[in-house]
Amino acid sequence: MECPQCAARLPEVAHFCHRCGRDMRTADLARQRSFAVKPDEAVASFALISSVMPRGIARPRTYRAALLIAVGAALVAALLGLLPVAVLLAALGVPLVYIVYVYDVNLWEDEPIWVSALAFLLTGVLGAALLVAVRTWGPEPTLEQLPVAGGPSVVGFLTAALLVPVLGEIVRQIGPLILASRPRFDDLMDGLTFGIISGVAYSAADTIVRHWSEITGGLVVPVDPLTWIPLIFLEGLVKPLLIGTATGIACAEFAGLGTGYDGFTLRYLRGLVEAIGANVAFGAAMYLLGFVTQPALRVGLQLVCGAVILAILIIRVRTVLHVGLMEAALEHAARRGVGTSVPVGATGDLQVCRRCEMPLLSDAEFCTACGTAVQVWLGHGQR
Ligand SMILES: [Zn+2]
Ligand SMILES: [Zn+2]
Repeated sequence: MECPQCAARLPEVAHFCHRCGRDMRTADLARQRSFAVKPDEAVASFALISSVMPRGIARPRTYRAALLIAVGAALVAALLGLLPVAVLLAALGVPLVYIVYVYDVNLWEDEPIWVSALAFLLTGVLGAALLVAVRTWGPEPTLEQLPVAGGPSVVGFLTAALLVPVLGEIVRQIGPLILASRPRFDDLMDGLTFGIISGVAYSAADTIVRHWSEITGGLVVPVDPLTWIPLIFLEGLVKPLLIGTATGIACAEFAGLGTGYDGFTLRYLRGLVEAIGANVAFGAAMYLLGFVTQPALRVGLQLVCGAVILAILIIRVRTVLHVGLMEAALEHAARRGVGTSVPVGATGDLQVCRRCEMPLLSDAEFCTACGTAVQVWLGHGQR
């Protein structure tokens, strides 16, 4: 049989086209029910591992267990009152699991050390410097220094919900953008991974700066478990994944598809706005909820808000990955030529559908992905 989308010849038993990925058994044209990274999951799903560690899908249980162990260790330390240990484990647990993942899937063959170190340390150091500077010279005393009776202020709100999220995102973009503009690391997956490493590094710096008093406040202190259990989940799991995924979305769009990096395109701008938007929402929620006087309730509400923002980001990052992978396949088909279509060539001008933005095969009368007639926007004389 022949694929109706890319004209590739397929064996009768094919469930998916091996060229463009079209589902041959159902009418799910955009493949919303089978995520390109892991076809047994829908694109709109909250599955964590296939979203933030897309190359780890061969062993998702291992990475899930590693994340749980990292958080579990921080939790045990916190419940024992070993706060310096708990804070450091919460800060560094997710980054460690992520760097082990990069090694494990052999992402950058022989150069994972300096690449990960650059993305991680650069953002960690810059992020810590930014956060310490805001705390030291910022326009407003930080929340931890405020008397309990003090209410929210405009300056405090703008610092927490605008200044820090925007400057923080700029800091998080530097390392990944330097790396993704190098020819060896200009792939969509590379961009996503650099962004996540950078984001979790910033989150680690934030946790250490925010809880500096607990790190230096004595090895064993009595704790309220009702406050510390949600706090460890917030600082040790939700926050790093939230900041990491947000930065990853923007960096994936920067790296883009095909040969070379896409650079500062509209898609990158959109990803950047989404990343900043997620951090603004998170910063605003953390600041305003910070005035809830009951500590366990305060941290619990902050955790819920962070989890909701993270859930939205997970859906977004899956969409970016899915569209990117489907698009790359069609672009490849158009460039090398399939069936009766003429190859566009590696450097030839690629036409894209104006409705779904998928690449068109040469001389296409209809978009193979969504079926829109090319005539709708282009007369025959024009091409
Ligand atoms: Zn096909
Ligand atoms: Zn289309």
